[in-house]
Amino acid sequence: MSANSNKHQVVIIGSGFGGLFAAKELADEDVEITLISKTSHHLFQPLLYQVATGILSEGDIAPTTRDILGNQSNVRVILGDVQEVDVEAKTVRSESLNQHTITHYDSLIVAAGAGQSYFGNNHFARYAPGMKSIDDALELRGRIFGSFELAETSLDPEQRRRLLTFVVVGAGPTGVEMAGQIAELAQRTLADEFRQIDPSEARVILLDAAPKVLPSFGDRLSDRARKSLQDQGVEVQLNAMVTDLDQYKIDVKDSDGSHRSIETMTKVWAAGVAASPLGRMVAEQTGTEVDRAGRVHVEDDLTVSGHPEIFFVGDMINLKGYPGVAQLAIQSGRYAARQIKARLAGTTPQGAFKYRDKGSMATISKYSAVASIGKINFTGFFAWVAWLAVHLMAMVGFKNRVSTLLNWVITFVGDNRNERVSTFQQVFARTAMEDLGPSAFPNLSDPARDGDEDEGKAAS
Ligand SMILES: Cc1cc2nc3c(=O)[nH]c(=O)nc-3n(C[C@H](O)[C@H](O)[C@H](O)COP(=O)(O)OP(=O)(O)OC[C@H]3O[C@@H](n4cnc5c(N)ncnc54)[C@H](O)[C@@H]3O)c2cc1C
Repeated sequence: MSANSNKHQVVIIGSGFGGLFAAKELADEDVEITLISKTSHHLFQPLLYQVATGILSEGDIAPTTRDILGNQSNVRVILGDVQEVDVEAKTVRSESLNQHTITHYDSLIVAAGAGQSYFGNNHFARYAPGMKSIDDALELRGRIFGSFELAETSLDPEQRRRLLTFVVVGAGPTGVEMAGQIAELAQRTLADEFRQIDPSEARVILLDAAPKVLPSFGDRLSDRARKSLQDQGVEVQLNAMVTDLDQYKIDVKDSDGSHRSIETMTKVWAAGVAASPLGRMVAEQTGTEVDRAGRVHVEDDLTVSGHPEIFFVGDMINLKGYPGVAQLAIQSGRYAARQIKARLAGTTPQGAFKYRDKGSMATISKYSAVASIGKINFTGFFAWVAWLAVHLMAMVGFKNRVSTLLNWVITFVGDNRNERVSTFQQVFARTAMEDLGPSAFPNLSDPARDGDEDEGKAAS
């Protein structure tokens, strides 16, 4: 692909569901696509919790974008964190370490997704990692398995209790799945492996300020999920709001106004999302509104007012109350690409974007899940089998499906987990990098050889 071609330039930010499916939809078009993402992989977020709990490897759920799009000759994939969109100049500025790239666009699809929100308490992140990225999942894996290891050698009963208490904050699908899997690890997988501790005595607590688990699934499935979790030994604490946390504990306020602390070393934050700040950045330049979570109030055709060349898709949009789920990202990514195709072909663009709800599912433990598809709600073993099938089919890449299936057989037929590598570096690298700041990273430009390191490089 030539950087100076006269072809229509489509820039896509993000290699998640929205970005990837938009790029694929344009496969046969005579356009040049630049897909910029801050990760070199496409991440299947719904299975992150299985990486965190040793069922799957990170490679199973995160094939490289370059590989997925390798045969699509009109796409160029570049690694870069987009820091700036200049709406007037129609350029996107991305960075990778200290190297920056400016890319021009004729059409822009912003599919940068959402990150974790700590509701203004960003200091919680230090001791309560979220569940949004491969780094998060590996850090949590290290924290979870590491806690059992440290408890085995601890001589202090208080410390041992703290190490064997796991608190998951947020009783949506991610929190429910995480809590269920940690309980299963403690009760089954690790049950016979330690000599000084009994892993099955571990406490797994699922906390939420709301009165229900899985509130979006309706009362019947919500009650069913709570009961299944409790049967598995998970302590479900609802109407319980986290007020503070540190390395050793988490402070909670209950609905009667009383305060208490739970001593725990391992905390998982699965509550709250905040859309990528790129939404607010573009909104400020175009006079568009964003909601409290930073999602953009897009027009019915997913563009922003007065800028038909800029589309937002997936987790970044606020439109008609549509949920932040994979299907919304896939459908909106495809829709944006089809709008571009129609305009270039001079045909009538499609009508307003409409999301088709294909249902929701969450697993609770081995052989147990809840599913809601249209008016049909079902639970238990059949819901669990449906969950496996739907997720396997939704994964991108044949090799990933095969390796995932193999790991599932190992985990669900036996009680083993194949992916239990955990290292100190997984656990502490994030905070060490934060503490070190820019000095943690190499400078790609050697000032002695390359002159001014800030000059950067323009791509097109
Ligand atoms: C733990 C978890 C479990 C989930 N479970 C389910 C489920 O069971 N079912 C379901 O339907 N949905 C589920 N979801 C939600 C679903 O994964 C999201 O709705 C979907 O991934 C959104 O797709 P997206 O393309 O909008 O964003 P994402 O998939 O988040 O992709 C965003 C992309 O943008 C890139 N990016 C971000 N910022 C920048 C930047 N500044 N510069 C360059 N690139 C950037 C990221 O690297 C990423 O590639 C889950 C989400 C999580 C976190």
